[in-house]
Formats: sequence, structure tokens, C-alpha cells
Amino acid sequence: MKKRERYLSLIIAPHHNSKPWQADLSYSLLRKLALLGIVLAIILLLLAANYSRILWRAAQYEAIKKRAAEIEASFTELQRLKDELAQLRQTEDKLKHILGVSQQPAMLTIGDISRSQTIAIGQMDAPPPADSAKADSAAALVQGGSTNPSLMPVKGWISARMTDNHRGVDIAAREGDPVLAAADGVVVFAGWDDYFGNQIKISHGKFTTMYGHNAKLFVKQGQRVRQGQVIALVGSTGRSSGPHLHYEVLSQGRPVDPTYFWMNH
Ligand SMILES: [Zn+2]
Repeated sequence: MKKRERYLSLIIAPHHNSKPWQADLSYSLLRKLALLGIVLAIILLLLAANYSRILWRAAQYEAIKKRAAEIEASFTELQRLKDELAQLRQTEDKLKHILGVSQQPAMLTIGDISRSQTIAIGQMDAPPPADSAKADSAAALVQGGSTNPSLMPVKGWISARMTDNHRGVDIAAREGDPVLAAADGVVVFAGWDDYFGNQIKISHGKFTTMYGHNAKLFVKQGQRVRQGQVIALVGSTGRSSGPHLHYEVLSQGRPVDPTYFWMNH
């Protein structure tokens, strides 16, 4: 026996119109519609959830991007501070040296220097030369001596750089600090100059170096010197306002920046 289908009537009756609109809906159709509605609602909910998750992720991405930029900025700042600290440490070392508080005894006594001078000269004269000039150049070749002024002649700090009006650099150091020959060469001048005080000029072949304002000179004109040999003591002779070495490098008579050679060494 078949159960009779039940219906529900939906009647829309407008006030001004005599004809009402009527729809007869079976219960089974209504159930289907309700099911469809539920499915649609679930789909909408899922979509909304997904969308809000995407929005949340986008917000997070922005925050992370901002944080990354902040970290990068901090890192740059850190790097800058690190460089600054390294520079300060260098300055500190130099100042310590100048003020005489470095741990190493930087100042050689005159006795030490003349002893090392004697040893250096003694070693240089060791092979008794028949022709002294020939022997010297041979010795320079054998020992691979450097004729490039790659050695900073005084352990100190540059208090004045090379400019149009200043043909070399000033290296501030303590009075009595050793002045070293920047390269192998021959002393072409060692004596008094009204401006540079006790002055030394050394010819290295292609280059000539000049050392001014020294307190004391240890070399004489015509003497052959080795790179690193003590040639004088830092002073403030001539026109100078304090202990420093005025140092020049000349290439065929024209001044070149001495620091160039230190950087390339
Ligand atoms: Zn100078």
C-alpha cells in the first residue's frame, strides 16, 4: 500500500492584486532543498575558513618581512660598529705606543741600536769584496733585498697625509723611537736641513726616500743600508712642533704617496 504524498502550499497573496501566487511543494522536495541548503552552508563555511587562513598568513608574511628588514638593518649597524671598534683598537694601540704604555719595550736604547748597527754592518762586510760596489749589488741579489719602500719606517700613526702642500706623510711617534730604512739602498744625504732638521735621503734605485726631523742620525752619506735597518731616532729637529717623522717617497724626483707601498706589501 503506497503512502499518499503530503504537500505543503506556499501562497503569496498581494493586497492590490486579486490573483494570488501559489506553489505546491511536496515534503520530499522540501527535504532535498533543506539538505542542499546545509551542504551549501558547509561549503561556504569551509571557504570562509580558508579565506581567513589566507588573510592570516598574508598578515604574518608582512610581519616577517618587516622583521627581516629590521634584522638586516641591525646587522648593518653591527657591522659598522665592528669596523669602528677595530679602528678604535688600532688607534688605541698607536696611542699606547706613543704614550709609552705598550707592553713591548718599543724604545730601543742607544746602546741596543749601536750594537745592532754594528752587527748589521759586520754582516754586510762579511764577504771581503775586491770590488765593493759589485759585491754589494751581488749581495742584494742573493739576499733578495727589497728596493721597494714597502716598510713603514716608524711604528706610529699618520698625523698628516700627503697633500699638494705636503710632499709626504708625518708619522707621530715618541722621541727616540727607531727610524728604519724603508728599503735597501744607499744614503745620498745625511745631515742638517733648516726645515727638516736632521735629515736622511736614501736612494733605492727607482725610488728615493727622505726622513726628516730626526733626533739623531746613525748613517753617513755613501753608506749602504738594508731594509729595516735603524738609521735614526725620531725627534723634533728643524721646523717641527712635536716628535714625528716626516717621510717622503720620490719616484724620479716626483713625490708619491708613501702609504701606497704599505698597502701593497
Ligand atoms: Zn711633514
